[in-house]
Amino acid sequence: MSDVRIEGLTKSYGAAPVLQGLDLHVAAGSITSVLGPSGCGKSTLLRIVAGFVRPDAGCVRVGDRVVDDASTHVPAQRRGVGYVPQEGALFPHLTVGQNILFGLPRLCRTATRLDEMLELAELPQDLARRYPHELSGGQQQRVALARALAPRPVVVLLDEPFSSLDTTLRVSAGRSVARVLRHAGATAILVTHDQGEALSLSDEVAVMRAGRFVQVAAPGTLYNRPADPAIALSVGGGTLLPGTVTGHRVRTELGELSTSQVSGDGEALVLVRPEQLDLGSSPFHAISARVRDVDYHGAQIVVVLALPSGHTVTARGPATAPPAIGDEVGIRVLGEVRTYPAAEVS
Ligand code: ADP
Ligand code: MG
Repeated sequence: MSDVRIEGLTKSYGAAPVLQGLDLHVAAGSITSVLGPSGCGKSTLLRIVAGFVRPDAGCVRVGDRVVDDASTHVPAQRRGVGYVPQEGALFPHLTVGQNILFGLPRLCRTATRLDEMLELAELPQDLARRYPHELSGGQQQRVALARALAPRPVVVLLDEPFSSLDTTLRVSAGRSVARVLRHAGATAILVTHDQGEALSLSDEVAVMRAGRFVQVAAPGTLYNRPADPAIALSVGGGTLLPGTVTGHRVRTELGELSTSQVSGDGEALVLVRPEQLDLGSSPFHAISARVRDVDYHGAQIVVVLALPSGHTVTARGPATAPPAIGDEVGIRVLGEVRTYPAAEVS
């Protein structure tokens, strides 16, 4: 197992900066997700680590070996790095078996190795003779992963591997790919624009915005302590309300809330997560709001509420006894909130 270390990685295409000084450490055997919107530079980063694109500046190490810096460029095939590209990962004219063994030297293309890889990727043996178009999307994804893992790479890079799958399949395909990676003991970098995927599949999440990492943290830390309001809204969502901080108390339209954060007193933006808003009619539900919208998400509902000031807040909870649009309901806030200095927000 090897770790991956990236330092000061910079890349421009013409005059357009794409990567603007990235630092990242991916521990050996761990999965790190790179999370960011389309166009922020995620694929460019992966292509550099894979060895297909040279950076303008910076350094990439795999284990104790420098594979890229000002004077070094180890070619892709000698890096020990497996790569699952974003689109069209499989060769359509080759069978599953031929696809999986493709990257191996001829002598290593054995039935035993193929069986091992099918088993590792949780694919039935009789799939080996089929062609990619005869597989489900989730199976194709696992064949692509098996192909990347067959040469026993020390590092595996996956570029939005689940983007072509529908929502239900994404979740199960994601879990099974994470299981396969952990079983193989590979160090992995997974690129995604899906926050749910990033939070549930990885040990660490690197949040990318316009060619920079704005926060690198474990999923729980990222969710509970997002570094800025934009990260908070893109990871977990919620509402930002104006408030006034005094010590560990915050005065807002939703009442006086508590925060364990150490921050200065004064005007702030207060992050309230959808699951922190409890609706009801007890004396504790002291704030009254009107229901604007009710959205069903399986066992959960998302309720948009208008406060007397006109601000809207979003609540999420179990779909038992949902309110109706137009209802007047009571709100209370559960748990602690996060605050951000009001000046930080543009
Ligand atoms: P992401 O994978 O996050 O969607 P990319 O790394 O593919 O982002 O692209 C980042 C930016 O770099 C985009 O603006 C894209 O148009 C540009 N870009 C990517 N590859 C090239 C290239 N080979 N030539 C010129 N511009 C490129
Ligand atoms: Mg991309």
